[in-house]
Amino acid sequence: MSAPDCDVLIVGGGPTSVTLALTAARHGASVIICEKEADIYPLPRAAHVDHEVMRIFQSVGAANGVAATSRTSAHYDFLTADGQILLRFDGSDQIGPGGWPAANMIHQPSLERALRDKLAEQDGATLRSLWAFEEFETQDDRVTVRFRTPDGVQSVTAKFLVGADGARSPVRAAATIDIDDLQFDEPWLVIDTIVHDAERLPKVNLQICDPARPTTCVLMGEGRHRWEFMILPGETPEQVLEDAFIEHLLEPWNVKGAVTLERKAVYRFNARVAKSWRKGRVLLAGDAAHQTPPFAGQGLCAGSRDAANLGWKLGLIASGDAPASLLDTYQMEREPHARATIQMAIMMGRTVCAVDPAAAAERDRQMLAARAAGTSPDGQARYPDITAGMILPGSAGAGTYFPQFVRDPSHIRLDDLLGPEGWLIGKEDLPELSGVRTVNLNTEDLGSASGDILDWLYRHSADAVLVRPDRYVFGTGSPAELAAAWQAALAATSAASIGTE
Ligand SMILES: Cc1cc2nc3c(=O)[nH]c(=O)nc-3n(C[C@H](O)[C@H](O)[C@H](O)COP(=O)(O)OP(=O)(O)OC[C@H]3O[C@@H](n4cnc5c(N)ncnc54)[C@H](O)[C@@H]3O)c2cc1C
Repeated sequence: MSAPDCDVLIVGGGPTSVTLALTAARHGASVIICEKEADIYPLPRAAHVDHEVMRIFQSVGAANGVAATSRTSAHYDFLTADGQILLRFDGSDQIGPGGWPAANMIHQPSLERALRDKLAEQDGATLRSLWAFEEFETQDDRVTVRFRTPDGVQSVTAKFLVGADGARSPVRAAATIDIDDLQFDEPWLVIDTIVHDAERLPKVNLQICDPARPTTCVLMGEGRHRWEFMILPGETPEQVLEDAFIEHLLEPWNVKGAVTLERKAVYRFNARVAKSWRKGRVLLAGDAAHQTPPFAGQGLCAGSRDAANLGWKLGLIASGDAPASLLDTYQMEREPHARATIQMAIMMGRTVCAVDPAAAAERDRQMLAARAAGTSPDGQARYPDITAGMILPGSAGAGTYFPQFVRDPSHIRLDDLLGPEGWLIGKEDLPELSGVRTVNLNTEDLGSASGDILDWLYRHSADAVLVRPDRYVFGTGSPAELAAAWQAALAATSAASIGTE
């Protein structure tokens, strides 16, 4: 039998898919994306990505393109109806551990355009538009997938199929994977506007916790601003979409003439997680695997993290450097993080969505008291480290996020200095390791970043650190121990069979 058409076939051409395709191709996999639409989805959805996600875009060459149309905001405030601060997420415009501003306000179609531009330049990855997924079947060594195309039904064969086909995910349905519904279901009206007079608009992101009309007001990419209004019991989507109704909703913001409406849409904000993210040769990523209400701005972010986690693993497998069972570490590493971001969004959503005046007054009382006592969960959100998967358990720092240090005074970021592979970083002779770059701090000129890494090693009482390509720490220890443990961990994953279930 001939070889499959590609290593990885991705259904869907959204941001998760394109980031995954770029990452996997850069790590050696051949990738085909099949997308049912002719072009990217033109209307804005995500308004925010965090510093770690900007680093992921940097790893595929798209960060500068994304940054060119994004902007920052100093904080994200949850306010009472009369303007008192219930909760403040501070430092959003400061550089985060990922080496980019903690919060980046974006326009999703512009972000997707920057990713697609990189895809067009990427060897080993191609996009087929107007190819709509119909069904798949799995054989011993491949998946055969059928698509409806302008030229009739066509098939593609691949070693792995990834459904990055959004919340409704036909791939998830065809694979008969169930969903865990976390019981959040609120209807909101989303209004995106083009800005003509930025001076008349808020400069920070706001949640107005007014039981009379819970409202979100956030910056987007350069030249755009968003409002979201909760649809109240008794109101219908048709009613709130009327222009006169929207004009009435915007009245308190006094922005007539400062903005024009770009689009209006009603969304139901849900929280759901697929029970299985891998079934044999079929994987799910992005909204196909998990959906979150948007209050924490983490949906697209979670999909990008899936892509970063899965991309290097698929590349290693395609290159013959790892067994397919390495993919079993994907869900165990990603799901706790995705669930934590969803829980954060649900917490924020429940805070905002209170429409009973008595319950809202009690919420205000408790949150104002917590803030006065200094026990409010302010600051930047903290999400869990990896505790099980492709890490060296028990070694200091294993599973934590390795920061991207920036070299002074040139401002060159660490990943641009060291490249896309994993890194074995230490101060003495370092053993050769397939697919991992060795970085000897005694001989490599990393400028001020060397001092930052030495500080990191000192804080973890370690001689060396092995950093995975997705910039999570595999483990710390002596260089020889780390090299042996990395190879043993890959061998251990090969003990499990790929399976078709
Ligand atoms: C109002 C709103 C605000 C949001 N705000 C934020 C935010 O601030 N920050 C954030 O991180 N996220 C946010 N999100 C979430 C974010 O938009 C999504 O998480 C993100 O778009 C998911 O990307 P994806 O690639 O996984 O899926 P999608 O973007 O949905 O892409 C899936 C693709 O699959 C294609 N497809 C579907 N069926 C088929 C088929 N049969 N064959 C072939 N292709 C198919 C679709 O056409 C689509 O192109 C927000 C969402 C909404 C609605």
